[in-house]
Amino acid sequence: MKALTKALAAFLVVIMLLTSLPFSGNYISLTGFNAAAASEESISCERHQLGDWTVTKEPSCSEEGSRYAICSTCNTTFTEILDKLPHKESEWIVAEDSTCLKKGLMQKVCTLCGEVLRAEIIPEKDHVKSEWVTDFGATCTKSGARHIECKNCEEILEREIIKMVPHIYGEDGTCINCGAGCDHMCHKGGLLWIIVQFFLKLLKINPVCVCGAAHY
Ligand SMILES: [Zn+2]
Ligand SMILES: [Zn+2]
Ligand SMILES: [Zn+2]
Ligand SMILES: [Zn+2]
Ligand SMILES: [Zn+2]
Ligand SMILES: [Zn+2]
Repeated sequence: MKALTKALAAFLVVIMLLTSLPFSGNYISLTGFNAAAASEESISCERHQLGDWTVTKEPSCSEEGSRYAICSTCNTTFTEILDKLPHKESEWIVAEDSTCLKKGLMQKVCTLCGEVLRAEIIPEKDHVKSEWVTDFGATCTKSGARHIECKNCEEILEREIIKMVPHIYGEDGTCINCGAGCDHMCHKGGLLWIIVQFFLKLLKINPVCVCGAAHY
């Protein structure tokens, strides 16, 4: 009895093995059949009858869009990429103005997405001249100095000596500012002055010295 059971079990195993192979073969041919059926259907639908396109995503200037339509005959869904829209260019925008020290930058950007579309260097600007700035003023004993500088970078653009100012003589014949006496030759006298004085008198010029003393 036991031997019969064993033999039956072995027989069942053999049957299962035998049937499983063709079964899996059937399974393969079944999918093969399905694929063939689908492609046959596609061939029969050479001219798909597409319904209206439905936009699933509107394109923008930064991202592509998409849309789909369904064939009313074969029910296939067709999707399509929608091209990006063109950027909308702004006017030139000064991102960083130039100075006399450094170059600047101007840009055109997309007014929709902000992307920088064009960029251009702004050349350095000229120095901006100041008024004359006095370093030290002139006196009757020393000349002065003044300069023009750039209002932005303070670079010195021009320098100039300020001429000495004349002495201002008081009644005693000395300068009220520096105390110096008049240095005109008339105060030294001598033969040369006598000759010069003669001609001054003759031509009626310079009757009085700069210090106020009478020449003739
Ligand atoms: Zn179709
Ligand atoms: Zn854009
Ligand atoms: Zn400057
Ligand atoms: Zn003086
Ligand atoms: Zn004099
Ligand atoms: Zn004098």
